[in-house]
Amino acid sequence: MNKVLEYFKENDSKEVIVKNIRVYGWQNEYDHLIISSVSKYLFEELEIKENIAPFNDDNRPGTIKPKKYVTVHDTGDASPLHTAKFWSEAVYNQSWEQSIGDVVKYLCSYQYVVDNEGIYHNIPDNEVAYHAGDGTKFDYVLYKSGVKDDGKKAVVTISEDGYYMINGEKSTILAPRYHVEKNGVVIEDRIAKTEDINSQGVLCKVIDGEYCLGETYFSSGYRKIANRGGNNNSIGIESCITENTDIYYTWQRTAKLVARLLDENKLTLDDVKQHHYFSGKNCPQTIRMNGMWDHFMELVAFELQMIEFKKEGYKIELVVDDKRVNKVGRIVDNTVLEPISFKIRTHKDGIVQELSQNIEFSK
Ligand SMILES: [Zn+2]
Repeated sequence: MNKVLEYFKENDSKEVIVKNIRVYGWQNEYDHLIISSVSKYLFEELEIKENIAPFNDDNRPGTIKPKKYVTVHDTGDASPLHTAKFWSEAVYNQSWEQSIGDVVKYLCSYQYVVDNEGIYHNIPDNEVAYHAGDGTKFDYVLYKSGVKDDGKKAVVTISEDGYYMINGEKSTILAPRYHVEKNGVVIEDRIAKTEDINSQGVLCKVIDGEYCLGETYFSSGYRKIANRGGNNNSIGIESCITENTDIYYTWQRTAKLVARLLDENKLTLDDVKQHHYFSGKNCPQTIRMNGMWDHFMELVAFELQMIEFKKEGYKIELVVDDKRVNKVGRIVDNTVLEPISFKIRTHKDGIVQELSQNIEFSK
């Protein structure tokens, strides 16, 4: 068996996830049955529709910045009318307007938007877009912390006197204060605590044997310590949670796009962040609230590995003869819960190899 098939055998899903999730749109929340696919790999090529917005001050200033992250969002909008095409047009036209009594204009600015029907590219990857909520004053930067690398994965906390600590050792970097004002009046001002840090933590990398920390700030809107570099240094992807769509398919397509962007920008899995990381906002809310982020990242990791195999010349194919499975590997029918049998077939240098797989429905 070649290494591609070996990888599928070792790392691919052993069970079909069948799970009711709650989807969070601002108009309404709804229950949605998630049925995963036969594989973590989506058997289709990315098809990206270019719909690049014209330059303008509001949502596409055209500023070029190095990219250090890929940021994942969801639209938080359940309306069946608000598809990826709709959101792509909203970027093209700079904003969209909503009328509930008054007309409110919302700025729309992100590089990509994905749903189960299409993937749209709205702003070039190397440009700034306003999607992460952290402003554009600060770039991705790393500061020496004074703490030596102990070889462990860095856990960043805050000391009682307000300094960042790395794996329990105090750094020379002061954390931002917890500071909330309303109409110019200070409501709360104190030394921040570890629990004030957003749930994805603080940027920390090792350079020359020393831990270095990124630029952070206190996001008063969401009352969390968050990271800078979201708007300037990340590529933003909106994933649609539109009602009556195949949200799992949207997630798989998003994961495939994330993997491509990691590869193209020489980034790693660690550089995939939620919008939450940059502002404390609960976004992508549906993935976060249903505990699906780790699964989403497994999809990204799998897709990224397949990019490597394809570079080596492998062609990877799904062979399935079961009406419950479509040609890209989506399970479109769960009325019969018998296990599904299929094959993964590879082609390289004229050699064809196959792996027989069996997947069961989760109980
Ligand atoms: Zn977001």
